[in-house]
Amino acid sequence: MSTFLTERENQIFRTGKDVHTINCSRPSLAGSVSQRACVFCGSRVVLYPIADALHLIHGPIGCAAYTWDIRGALSSGPEIHRLSFSTDLREKDVVFGGEKKLYHSLSELIDRYKPKAAFVYSTCIVGVIGDDLEAVCKKVSKEKGMPVIPVQAPGFNGSKKDGYKIACESLATLIGTGDLEVPKYSINILGDFNLAGELWMLLEYYKRMGIHVNATITGDGRVDAIRSAHKASLNVVQCSGSMMYLAKIMKEKYGVPFMKVSYFGLEDMSDALYEVAKFFKSDELMAKAREIVREEFTRMMPILKEYKEKLEGKKAAIYVGGSFKAISLIKALRLIGVKTVLVGSQTGTADEYEIIRELCDDDTIIVDDSNPIELSTFVKEKQADIFIGGVKERPIAYKIGIGFCDHNHERKEALAGYEGMLNFAKEIYATAMSPVWQFTK
Ligand code: SF4
Repeated sequence: MSTFLTERENQIFRTGKDVHTINCSRPSLAGSVSQRACVFCGSRVVLYPIADALHLIHGPIGCAAYTWDIRGALSSGPEIHRLSFSTDLREKDVVFGGEKKLYHSLSELIDRYKPKAAFVYSTCIVGVIGDDLEAVCKKVSKEKGMPVIPVQAPGFNGSKKDGYKIACESLATLIGTGDLEVPKYSINILGDFNLAGELWMLLEYYKRMGIHVNATITGDGRVDAIRSAHKASLNVVQCSGSMMYLAKIMKEKYGVPFMKVSYFGLEDMSDALYEVAKFFKSDELMAKAREIVREEFTRMMPILKEYKEKLEGKKAAIYVGGSFKAISLIKALRLIGVKTVLVGSQTGTADEYEIIRELCDDDTIIVDDSNPIELSTFVKEKQADIFIGGVKERPIAYKIGIGFCDHNHERKEALAGYEGMLNFAKEIYATAMSPVWQFTK
């Protein structure tokens, strides 16, 4: 390992060789050119899928352009979320302040689009000039008679993970303000963002079990359902990195318990159904969960077996937003015969890295908050055939000349649930086995 900065030594280890625990959840090192996004972006990706809310970015146009349509999050109804509004701050606004511009933009947009709520995001420059976002939001909220929520997330003020937390705090101001009644077996889904309609598959499984899904936070999200989210009996949290903070707030404030699940891969998807049935202590729910799992396994295993035979011996590198998802990916890849040789994440936790260490074979490289130089060096060293990551990892894979699978929030392919596992296997197969890679060697 010669190409990493010495200050990053404790954020990288090889299973079976290094014994130190990973030093994660720390600010990115200056000069490292981290793959992480900024605080504002973190808050934006979490709140973005709330489809009947207005999302206004108070800042220069670049911040809005950078996060425009940032998720492949689909809506079954309104689509205000897909419009990226910005106050487009210019030099004059920076010198004299942008509050007036914000007030007028917000008022005009609310009149025109009639959203159920508005989220107003601050950005780096707003953090510097000190516009009073809260006061403007309060004023407009009073005038329009609707929630107008300031999302205080200047980009420089921490890491993407801090943005998640700020988004959770904003959501918490909505929760508890509605009183929709919910049936007995009722859950909220936290941390699924309905990428390519994945959430709709999950809703179908839970419906078949007889479970009512109250609020989906935030995939295909609706303000009224979120306002009544505290009425559900359980929070089922998938993207724990972004939503665990909200789950904890809801437990403390409303006594709603939570559990962590993953919907990626057959094993974890099935566990998600079993765990919910177990929570409600219902034999009927458990029997229905078993029926779904049996049906899906019978349908999928022969197909996956064929992929496994063809993919056996291929090697994958994983670099994703949170380490919890990486755990499911390692298991899903194993099911189709692919070995993981490098695993990393932008915002992983020590506990999850520990699970990864136990899951992986010896000499797997595990890396936290990495950068392009480290990643390309490790991918080349481990001779990975395919790189699974997001928009910033794609060019790394293609420059090296290996296949790439998009597993980030921009993707347009459903990879969660049983059907998603099939899509994942298909994509890994098509990418890793493509004849084009013979020309890059
Ligand atoms: S908030 Fe700051 S770091 Fe984030 S996109 Fe805007 S200028 Fe860049």
